[in-house]
Amino acid sequence: MSDESLRLAGIEVRGHSVGGLETFIRLPELGLCFDIGRAPESSLSTELVLFTHSHIDHLGGVSSHAASRALRGMGPPTYVVPPPIAPGLQDLLEVWRGLDGANLPCKIVPLGPGDELTIKGRRVVRPFPAHHFGAAQGYVVWDAREKLLPELAGLSGDEIKARREAGEPVTARIETPLVAFTGDSRIDVLDVEPVLYQAKLLILEVTFLDDRVTVESAREKGHVHLDEVIERADRFQNEAILMTHFSARYNRRQVREILAERLPASLAERVTPLLNHFS
Ligand SMILES: [Zn+2]
Repeated sequence: MSDESLRLAGIEVRGHSVGGLETFIRLPELGLCFDIGRAPESSLSTELVLFTHSHIDHLGGVSSHAASRALRGMGPPTYVVPPPIAPGLQDLLEVWRGLDGANLPCKIVPLGPGDELTIKGRRVVRPFPAHHFGAAQGYVVWDAREKLLPELAGLSGDEIKARREAGEPVTARIETPLVAFTGDSRIDVLDVEPVLYQAKLLILEVTFLDDRVTVESAREKGHVHLDEVIERADRFQNEAILMTHFSARYNRRQVREILAERLPASLAERVTPLLNHFS
């Protein structure tokens, strides 16, 4: 099945995510994707992958991604991972190198909460801890721009240039959270990381949608239940929210119906469910 393109808060999003099966979310304009559960053909063009945790449905496609890119002469990809996962990923690729005889060229970048990575387009990636299993983290991609100091707004270009040349600061760095991705996590992540409510686009896992699974059971499994999102409905300031990672027990029609029935209007108008790969 192909991945339709969505445009949310002005950002193109492709990919698919089914809880327990496969997560792969691509932001072509930002030149990155989050997780590669199975390495579909459409993942190969992405050089920068931000992995959230080491469950197979999120990391399982890494070896084929590296292999297929090498086979096509596409250059080594960069895999950003939670630092505790890096040695295991090295070992995994080493085992595949032994079995397959291929080099699997790639760069593994351990990046944890408190670290940052500058990427193309004057953007900065910062991980935050997720509340799932083992070393799990989500990511915020920030837009970082130099903006003219507001007190200089009335000056001419020549005057600003003169001040800059005299060594005076004329700009300040302004950062805005563009995209936040929770990865797999209990809802607690929203309570601890207020930036998630502010990012232009929030990509939020909502694995369970109704009383077929209780909130308590969702929490035990390290996932979000829709009840918990509804409880927090008035806190979301995001321009758009992409809900992902629905359990395979729901089909496309059920997801749409449950969201339409249960989401308050203020949230419903900003929420899009990622339903590629749902029957
Ligand atoms: Zn998981």
